[in-house]
Amino acid sequence: MVHPGNFWSKIRQRYISYQIKRYLLTRKLYHYAPYPLDIYEQCLKSLKSLQHQQLIRFLNGEGINRKGDIIFVRHDIDTQECIRNLPETLEIDQRLRVEAGIYLRFDNEEYMAGDHREMLLKYKDHGFEIGLHSLCYTKENYLQEFQRETERFKSIMGFQPRSFSVHGLGSFRLEIRMKFLHEITHCFHEFGYETGDIPPLRAYEHVIHDSHLDNENRRFLYDDFLYFPRFSSRRRRYLVLTHPCYWKV
Ligand SMILES: [Zn+2]
Repeated sequence: MVHPGNFWSKIRQRYISYQIKRYLLTRKLYHYAPYPLDIYEQCLKSLKSLQHQQLIRFLNGEGINRKGDIIFVRHDIDTQECIRNLPETLEIDQRLRVEAGIYLRFDNEEYMAGDHREMLLKYKDHGFEIGLHSLCYTKENYLQEFQRETERFKSIMGFQPRSFSVHGLGSFRLEIRMKFLHEITHCFHEFGYETGDIPPLRAYEHVIHDSHLDNENRRFLYDDFLYFPRFSSRRRRYLVLTHPCYWKV
């Protein structure tokens, strides 16, 4: 016999999935990159003013007593321009007391994280989470590369990162990327990590992000940066994800 609690929770989950699908079809294109930073500031301000949603420190949220949804902010530092634009982005976070996650590459291809060490350590002292943004799946031996990136992080920054995120490259080596995500979910502790910002380690109901791509390869934002989508959900997790290179500073 199906437990009535399970029955209702399945119905509720289906209804939420339906709401999200409907929402994704109705949201509107809002702005092409480069985006004015005012949009980001406005987004954080409106999220902070919501009654049943709480913006919290990036790696917090496990086991805390909460009634409403929780929202996290993460910045992925993909390029030289991203790291150049980071201070202006974080100035807004600091002013609005948002303790975001900053995820950096340690493959030395786009920029040298070590050149910005002092600045990054200062942000860490102010409550920002500094983690690894991995591209290991672009290499044949991806676990070995993940180890190499982690070791480089530790020797440059002087501490073990608590978590990692994974750089997206569309369909490029997607199969390998999925294979890595599956494998690392079972062995991230062996590399010293407490968690990873990857499903299923951390899943989000919806991600508000700045890197949508149109048919002409132009980056754009949807209006979810302006209006937080309201699904009939409680105690769900949401993510605001930015790449500072797409913003005008
Ligand atoms: Zn990335």
